[in-house]
Amino acid sequence: MSETAQGPIWEGYRRFIVARKVRESGTVTSFYLTPEDGGPLAPFRPGQHIGIKLDIPGQFVPVMRSYTLSDSPSQAGHYRLSIKREPAPADEPELEPGVSSNFMHDHVAEGTVVELRAPGGDFVLRPEGKGPVVLLSGGVGCTPMISMLSAIADAGAAREVWFIHGVKNGAEHAFGSFVRALAAERPNIHVHIRYSRPGPADEAGRDFDSTGHVDMDLLRQLLPGPTPQFYLCGATPFMKSLYQGLTDWGVDPFQINYEFFGAASDLTGEEAPVPAVVDADPDETYQVTFERSGVTATWTPEIGSLLNLAEANGVMPDYICRKGMCQTCMQHVMHGSFKYLNDAIVPPAGEGNVLICSARPTSDLVLNL
Ligand SMILES: Cc1cc2nc3c(=O)[nH]c(=O)nc-3n(C[C@H](O)[C@H](O)[C@H](O)COP(=O)(O)OP(=O)(O)OC[C@H]3O[C@@H](n4cnc5c(N)ncnc54)[C@H](O)[C@@H]3O)c2cc1C
Repeated sequence: MSETAQGPIWEGYRRFIVARKVRESGTVTSFYLTPEDGGPLAPFRPGQHIGIKLDIPGQFVPVMRSYTLSDSPSQAGHYRLSIKREPAPADEPELEPGVSSNFMHDHVAEGTVVELRAPGGDFVLRPEGKGPVVLLSGGVGCTPMISMLSAIADAGAAREVWFIHGVKNGAEHAFGSFVRALAAERPNIHVHIRYSRPGPADEAGRDFDSTGHVDMDLLRQLLPGPTPQFYLCGATPFMKSLYQGLTDWGVDPFQINYEFFGAASDLTGEEAPVPAVVDADPDETYQVTFERSGVTATWTPEIGSLLNLAEANGVMPDYICRKGMCQTCMQHVMHGSFKYLNDAIVPPAGEGNVLICSARPTSDLVLNL
């Protein structure tokens, strides 16, 4: 473990014990995690996530996933993850349901040990911000918004906040009473909950405020104008339609912050390609060695990222977002140099670590992979 300006950060994985498991809705359960070694937690900023590694019976390799830290950073002593049980896709019910989320729900209990990477990610509420903020979420995309909302409330900040959340119905609605309680005590916090298909027990005015999907008509109705900072997290269609609608309304794209929980997309249009190499000499080639896999391959500019090169040569590292956000693909450089394909990438903690989905070599390179 090393001490940085932000506090203690650990390399690789650290063992955490599930101290508490709390059902938040019919589909979302929270896990409160404390370090097994009893040491301090690394601080995090509201909106950041951690990587978790699970040894799941029947899986040939450890399963790694990212989960947002859903509590306020000032809630000392634990990290909280709030995880939605992922079913098989509705149009392909014969497929296996989500591996990690179902394992967490069904087999991870109080006392279970899991392994976590240190917090990271650049989808964060800017603490220095004083202006109005709109937290827009769909389904389990509420987890970063809950952390951000709690942080604003804990700081006693007077900035205006709109927490606008779309979810199917009361059975799937997590943190409803928590959010209402925060808003009841603070005039600067405004809440609007929209159910797409309310259940028979759901009561308008108590459980939800309106019916349908969160859309621009609703935002125009609720918000004073297109000037706040916007934070978006939800399913891709939700994000795409709101991003488009917000920019059409006159919101500057720099005011819109967003995070994908699944494969990343370009909200301005097509699916995001793996970053292209734009600044390499076409004749530039390097030898990249994947040390633990016993593979050496030639990198050329057409290959693009180190992750592409690994996969093209039968080395299959973990990844989720392929956009330099989730940090699942992080590897350690044993020798050589690299650069990121996109200036917006936030480098991971730890000297010599690289996000291989978004980096390319600038010399011959040896990775501990
Ligand atoms: C930065 C970040 C933060 C996140 N935060 C949260 C959070 O706070 N809470 C949360 O719940 N999640 C969060 N996620 C999502 C989380 O990381 C997992 O992706 C999610 O839990 C699903 O993982 P799983 O292992 O359960 O499902 P997977 O096993 O990855 O399966 C995903 C889906 O694919 C389907 N599937 C299975 N086989 C196939 C096949 N052959 N073809 C097509 N589909 C198939 C499954 O049925 C399932 O519907 C976050 C993700 C990121 C990147």
